[in-house]
Amino acid sequence: MKKLVVISGAGKGIGRALAQRFASEGFSLALCARTEADLQTLQTELTQKHSEIEVFIRPTDVSIKTQVLSFAQMIEETGLPVEVLVNNAGVFLPGQIHQEEDGALEKQIETNLYSAYHLTRALVPTMIEAQRGHIFNICSTASITAYTSGGSYSISKFALLGMSKVLREEMKPHHIRVTSILPGATLTNSWAGSDLPEKRFMPPEDVAEVAFNTYQLSDRTVVEEILMRPQLGDIT
Ligand code: NAP
Repeated sequence: MKKLVVISGAGKGIGRALAQRFASEGFSLALCARTEADLQTLQTELTQKHSEIEVFIRPTDVSIKTQVLSFAQMIEETGLPVEVLVNNAGVFLPGQIHQEEDGALEKQIETNLYSAYHLTRALVPTMIEAQRGHIFNICSTASITAYTSGGSYSISKFALLGMSKVLREEMKPHHIRVTSILPGATLTNSWAGSDLPEKRFMPPEDVAEVAFNTYQLSDRTVVEEILMRPQLGDIT
């Protein structure tokens, strides 16, 4: 039977690289992002390249609970078991707590934390029933490091790592693996406008590769946390 990999925020960047990596191993995909055109382009690319897989897409704003639940409904209707869930969608609004725009905290908590909470809660009951699966939460080095440009982004990512650690404990008896990935600067749209050279960033494909390698270990092993940084270190 086909197995499903669910990825939020899959239209660009790390999410897109994850979709490409798991598709290359024959997994079917359920993908969301707000921009439908990005999802359609990716769906066409992946189904042309890997004719054996199915790619389900749903334009979704993950900061809105009802839209997350409707994405989860679509996933259930595929009838395919969720083998991997990647809570990846996120937004980075650089700033400082005392200076950033009003609403920055709410927007980033809704997009970076509540999205993962609601999608996980919607999908985990069937994973528990199946007694298998792997959940990845894309956190950040900002989940453990206080950067002066981090502001509310950092608050949301500290919280997401907290959620991920709690989930790891809860899922132990259900044979569901939970992994927190904490990438440093990765060359995606999140850094649009930066004039830093490419060598200061990791490629998103490396984050996807690490996730896939972690997934394919024996199911007796869980890599709980992965901390990745550019070889030249943090951008501060
Ligand atoms: P990206 O290139 O900007 O891609 C983000 C993806 O998420 C896009 O497909 C975007 O599509 C989607 N997205 C954003 N807001 C959304 C929303 N409200 N609802 C649904 N989808 C949404 O970003 P990225 O760098 O790959 O980031 C992916 C994850 O990695 C994020 O959680 C980020 O915090 C984390 N991360 C990134 C870095 C880095 O340096 N790049 C480092 C550490 C952690 P739409 O805009 O079409 O919705």
